[in-house]
Amino acid sequence: MRVVHNWISGVQAPTSDHLDDTNPATSQVIARIPRSQASDVHAAVVAAREGARVWSRTPASERAIALRRIADALEARLDELAALESQDQGKPVSLARKVDIPRAIANFRFFASALEQETLASTRMADAINYEARKPIGIVGLITPWNLPLYLLSWKVAPALAMGNAIVAKPSELTPLTADALAGICADILPAGVFNLVHGLGPECGQAIVEHPEIKAISFTGGTATGRRVAATAAPMFKKLSLELGGKNSTLVFADADFDQAVAGAVRAGFANQGEICLCGSRLLVQRSIYDRFVEAFTAGVQALKVGDPAHPDTDIGALNSLAHRDKVEGYLSLARDEGGTVVGGERSPGPGAFLNPAVVTGLEPTCRTATEEIFGPVVTVHPFDDEDQAIAIANGTEYGLAASVWTSDLGCAHRVGEALDVGMVWVNTWLHRDLRVPFGGVKNSGVGREGGRWSMAFYSENKNICVKLGDRR
Ligand code: NAP
Repeated sequence: MRVVHNWISGVQAPTSDHLDDTNPATSQVIARIPRSQASDVHAAVVAAREGARVWSRTPASERAIALRRIADALEARLDELAALESQDQGKPVSLARKVDIPRAIANFRFFASALEQETLASTRMADAINYEARKPIGIVGLITPWNLPLYLLSWKVAPALAMGNAIVAKPSELTPLTADALAGICADILPAGVFNLVHGLGPECGQAIVEHPEIKAISFTGGTATGRRVAATAAPMFKKLSLELGGKNSTLVFADADFDQAVAGAVRAGFANQGEICLCGSRLLVQRSIYDRFVEAFTAGVQALKVGDPAHPDTDIGALNSLAHRDKVEGYLSLARDEGGTVVGGERSPGPGAFLNPAVVTGLEPTCRTATEEIFGPVVTVHPFDDEDQAIAIANGTEYGLAASVWTSDLGCAHRVGEALDVGMVWVNTWLHRDLRVPFGGVKNSGVGREGGRWSMAFYSENKNICVKLGDRR
């Protein structure tokens, strides 16, 4: 069995206690990973002190070269990493090969270029000139969830490295394998102590990262309840904080939308990665005049999705991330029935893996718990609406505010609805169409701050203004 270690100061570091890492499609233990404690986190911080000292003085041009070398090394191992991600997470290997690993590679290349092309503002006064200067923060803590393991970790690691910081990172203990591979790659490319990786449980290892006084910034992606705990610890310590949290996103389909494109888009938005993407459109709002026809076509599209072995190239929906997570999703299907909904799908597949057929739920009030709480699985609730105002009111009627997609052929409607939605990101006639330069993040209980492009670069650095008095004429 694979044995995974922490990576501290560029070498693998032993720990005294361990956890099992399980393949959710087979329920077999595939690796033994460290159960790190605060002392392990402290050892990583000690290594990061030296890493930060060296890396912060490394010229930006050399840092960009290192980022590109990391991207190249990931690319050379694309198939192996895709297989690891699929075994660890349950996702179809085809998705990992097409989306997760290529995105991780793109993240490093993107921030290498962004660093090289960065220009900072200067502001002229009559008798002085101000200019912005940027410094690395020092040591940053990066904490990531299990749904898009390498994709999300690299989304933080790449800009943190670009801006000259040393890192102490913790992936979810449920999906540690591609983070381990990334750490091995970084050990070959970066100075010792720049990238440190500690594995373990959130309340132990993750909490120790958030609490450590020498870690000056925390970038956290995960659930809203955990984010609240992270904020409660970090805010009184005046740490920089980026919180990318949960979502309950609406897909709004107007009667004038291209019907077939909207059906295909709503199916993809609802069920990509088993519905385990924070941006998934798990509440489908359909204008009443096309509601029956749309629900029929949508349900047929969902039932055509192939559920099964994540390693099979034709699989659309793999295993949920754990048996415990499947129990949670099934709990919501019971709740949906209790709340008066009609559930189509949602059956377990036989066998030891955490498989669950995708489910479409109709007949629920859009204000009920099933329709407003994050399920984070292959479940979409469908609700009719009469007009724009009602669609907006339903879409805004949750505590979350991450993303939405709007399907219409009326550009005016797209703009009006897009602006009225209380979310950080709106897609029109598309979903999860990402450009790495644009701001990413949510409002309300979906998070605080923005990442992506210059927002990430600003987060992972301290901006300073230097005001130079211009000399008086002699
Ligand atoms: P989670 O339980 O909140 O865990 C996220 C990470 O935080 C894990 O590494 C976890 O470790 C760690 N953690 C747990 N307790 C902690 C603590 N007290 N202090 C510090 N770290 C702690 O979330 P998840 O179940 O892994 O992921 C699913 C959630 O992530 C969903 O709500 C989803 O919407 C959200 N998400 C948001 C985005 C976004 O960009 N907005 C993207 C992806 C996912 P353990 O795994 O060991 O518990």
